[in-house]
Amino acid sequence: MRSKNSTIERWRYSATVLLPVVLALVTTAAAVLGFVFWSTADIDQRALERQSAMIAEVIQTRRDQLGHDLASIANRDDTLVNSKLAFNFNWVNANIGLWSHAFLGHGRSVLLNATGRPLYVMTNGVPAELASYGAMAGTVEMLVSRLRAMPPALPLALARTTPRAATDFALIEGMPAIVGVMAITSDTGRLTQQPGSEYIIAGALFLDGEASSRLSREYMFEDGHFTLADTPASGRASFPILNDAGRFIAFFEWERDRPGLTMLRQTGPALIAAFAIAAILVVLLLGQLRRSAAALEAGRRHAEHQAAHDRLTGLPNRMSFDTHLARALLDQRENGTQLSLLMLDLDRFKQVNDTLGHQAGDALICAVGQRIRAIIGPQAMLARLGGDEFAILVSSQGRRPDTMIMANRIIESIGRPFDLNNFKAHVGASIGIVHVADAPVEPRELVRKADIALYEAKAGGRNCAVIYEEHMNELVQMQHTIEGELRDALQRHDQLDVAFQPLLDQKTRRIIGAEALARWRHPKFGQVAPARFIPVAENTGLIEALGEFVLRRACELGSTVPGRTIAVNISPTQLRNPRFATQVFDILDQTGMAPEDLELEITESILLDDEHVSAANLRTFRDAGIHIALDDFGTGYSSLSYLKRYPVDRIKIDRSFVSQLADGHVSVAITQAIVTLAHAMDIEVTAEGVETEGQAAILGRMGCNTLQGFLFSGGVTREKILALFEDALHPLRRTGS
Ligand code: C2E
Ligand code: CA
Ligand code: CA
Repeated sequence: MRSKNSTIERWRYSATVLLPVVLALVTTAAAVLGFVFWSTADIDQRALERQSAMIAEVIQTRRDQLGHDLASIANRDDTLVNSKLAFNFNWVNANIGLWSHAFLGHGRSVLLNATGRPLYVMTNGVPAELASYGAMAGTVEMLVSRLRAMPPALPLALARTTPRAATDFALIEGMPAIVGVMAITSDTGRLTQQPGSEYIIAGALFLDGEASSRLSREYMFEDGHFTLADTPASGRASFPILNDAGRFIAFFEWERDRPGLTMLRQTGPALIAAFAIAAILVVLLLGQLRRSAAALEAGRRHAEHQAAHDRLTGLPNRMSFDTHLARALLDQRENGTQLSLLMLDLDRFKQVNDTLGHQAGDALICAVGQRIRAIIGPQAMLARLGGDEFAILVSSQGRRPDTMIMANRIIESIGRPFDLNNFKAHVGASIGIVHVADAPVEPRELVRKADIALYEAKAGGRNCAVIYEEHMNELVQMQHTIEGELRDALQRHDQLDVAFQPLLDQKTRRIIGAEALARWRHPKFGQVAPARFIPVAENTGLIEALGEFVLRRACELGSTVPGRTIAVNISPTQLRNPRFATQVFDILDQTGMAPEDLELEITESILLDDEHVSAANLRTFRDAGIHIALDDFGTGYSSLSYLKRYPVDRIKIDRSFVSQLADGHVSVAITQAIVTLAHAMDIEVTAEGVETEGQAAILGRMGCNTLQGFLFSGGVTREKILALFEDALHPLRRTGS
């Protein structure tokens, strides 16, 4: 259960905390990385564009430079004289061929006459065959015609600075080159020529290794060179060089400058470290979060446990029981589990609490919880519903466990004395049991039925367990109307009656008297137990009328059998009434019964009463010779010290003690102590509820004076008791029912 819970917790934690945080982290990392890579690429792209623009610019400059270079040769009177006016090979070779090669870097120079015929050709600094001009003839002729088509020459001063040259890119014998042509003119203006008749100087600057390394050096391109194939290796860039007609000539290829990549390389490790640190921090934070969440959860569970459990015993409380019951009923409906509910209520708990104190009461409740648990085992659910009320929920697969056996074992266990603060406390337990039938049932309904069975158990004399049956429900329903019905019954004479239960001398077993017991036969519900209607009568004041009715019947009987004791139960309400004594004496008077034959049975609670009226009444009765018996002795305060204040003639040991009498049982010692003490105070002892010969024998050995119980006879009619008195010579033995 716990591990299942923690697995669920872990899942919930993962889903609600871990997942979003990890997602946020990953998204942020992806966004940052994406941005870094994008900006790196962007920076590199801009750098490339800048470098490409620069290459274009540089190459254009080279082309312009060629024009200037040619001008330094062509725009001279010397050149005009030694070429056109009087061709001087040596001069031409030295001042055109060698000079343009050595100082201007031209790979080829050509001198053409006015018709375009070559007069001199230089290749790589040496004079060459005139026929070798053919390789560049096409380009040169095109440029010459372009040159001749240019507008007339500008005034002299300007012509110096802006020489008229035509240039273009071309392939010469498969080698890329810048080719330029210029007309040979006078720089002083002293020599004039017919336009169109000028001689021409042509020069070719090859874009070779030499040119590229110079370019790279001057403009800081890394490893640049010209190539015809556009297959740059990675990290290199290329720029195409086209001639004026748009034809491809060559590529300039170089190692790209990648500032973005460089920056990335430098900042990358720092970025990764920052991410790692952030991730570690987040992990630590999550761990912390999880720990505090767990602590919070533990706190919540603790509070929940506190709310669901009884502080004193640690058992589930009513709230928790309700939830558990609802769940168990659901389970029963779905899986067909067998379910039984046991409601337990302690008898005489209040007395323990009142006499030994609340601490002792608390200790008793805890001990009771432990004894119950020891019997029901760990599987069944035990809850404390409040005060001295417990609930037990037994569920099982297959056959229903015998809850009656279980209940009786609990009653037996709780019936054993409890050791509290050096005092021994005696309590009992009543249990109501309800089995869940196949039909669906509401939790509330189930609890109500168990309560009804519990009520039945208490009404049935306490210290017993009762299984709920449907007819009990009707009786409970009747409880509401019982007052009205009883009021009605008291008006008429056909429902209420009095039964008499014989009292026997212990030694002779002969009948010496009888106890009057109220009987009510309801036309619809049949015999209603006094335990059911006497409390109602007491609570509603009807007990006065009922008590008077019983007393009158008892005295009527008593007057006919002088010398026999007729006992009548008196409720505290009656005794507290100042007119009660007068009423009793009136009835004695009217019936003619001798006061010495009447015995009034009072309960211990009257002794606790501080009412002067009760005490005065008791004294009046005793003074008049009426006997007083203390009923149900042992169930209440069990203190003989009260008897000094309110002297009685007899105590009646409660049947719950008598029923436990068996050799070796603790109740034997208790009963013996009571009998001995009572006799020492000159008080007679009656044992009620004697059901077996064994009990009678034990009570006999103890010296009990009088016996009463089903072993001899239950309550009988007036006629029957009269007959028994007639027969008084014979010892009484129960015959039939
Ligand atoms: P109680 O005064 O202790 O009366 C004895 C009860 O024990 C009677 O129950 C009687 O039937 C029952 N009893 C007698 N012998 C045995 C036995 O051997 N075994 C068992 N298990 N029970 C035995 P009942 O008649 O049901 O009366 C119950 C209680 O109702 C009485 O207990 C008494 O407290 C009260 N009660 C009855 N009649 C009157 C009455 O007229 N006035 C008042 N105030 N209370 C009455
Ligand atoms: Ca009695
Ligand atoms: Ca009694």
